[in-house]
Amino acid sequence: MPGTIVGRVLAALVGATLVACTASAQSPAAPPPLSRVPADQVPLPPPRPEERREPPAENSTSKDSTSKDSASKDPAAKDTPAKDTPAAPVPEPAPLPPERPAGLPSGPAPTPAAIVPDDTACLRRLERLGVKAEPVAPLADGMCGAARPLRVTELPDGVPLAPAATLTCVAAEALGRWSTEVRVIAERTLSKAPQKVQIGGSYECRGQNHDPAAKLSEHAYANGVDVMGFVFEGRAPVTVGATREGTPEAAFEAAVRARACSFFRTVLGPGSDAAHANHLHLDERERTAGHRLCQ
Ligand SMILES: [Zn+2]
Repeated sequence: MPGTIVGRVLAALVGATLVACTASAQSPAAPPPLSRVPADQVPLPPPRPEERREPPAENSTSKDSTSKDSASKDPAAKDTPAKDTPAAPVPEPAPLPPERPAGLPSGPAPTPAAIVPDDTACLRRLERLGVKAEPVAPLADGMCGAARPLRVTELPDGVPLAPAATLTCVAAEALGRWSTEVRVIAERTLSKAPQKVQIGGSYECRGQNHDPAAKLSEHAYANGVDVMGFVFEGRAPVTVGATREGTPEAAFEAAVRARACSFFRTVLGPGSDAAHANHLHLDERERTAGHRLCQ
């Protein structure tokens, strides 16, 4: 009896395993049908190459001949050939790069502007001082020039420059501030306020003392001005270098010259050298350690 029971149990177990094996054996058999599905899709690719041939023909033909169907094919046709055939898309993107760099070269031009000092604050001070000046075109002549020159026509208190001077804002401001001191000195020593300031020169591309071999003058940077004299109403003008010692005019000339050293880094005049015998040369040349040349 027990043998038969064990035999039945074994038979049941064997049957279960067989079922499991057959079930597992059937599952691997499932993939084959999947491979059959793509096989049906295989024939689809062929039609694509035909579409590729159509777009070039459409592009070459006029837009009037394109129908709604062809229009709908255009986007798809352009995308598919770009991926499949690199030959067609290559020529199109190629011309684009050269056009962009062509526009870029014009951009570098502003870089010089970065060198230009921001004289916005200086221009505001000029306005508050009462200096009349207007920006003029940048000056550039070899090593000479000024990025933001001004045409200065009038100093504080309505004192005109004769003629107008082309100066940097820094030099114009110094001239304006100095002129207010000149007015005070004139009223004290001559009992008259200047009505006009005579200018011998401002911007000029030249070496110091008109020597071509010499270092460039500050005039070459619109950073210097030559004052020849002062015109008064009701009395003779005071000409620099032409005053007689011991006279009010000589005292006036000496005082304004000395006062100029407070506003300009360089002050030269009669006695400095032969080149400055008849005018006051005033400039804003920068020197090491802030040294000034006041002679
Ligand atoms: Zn000069």
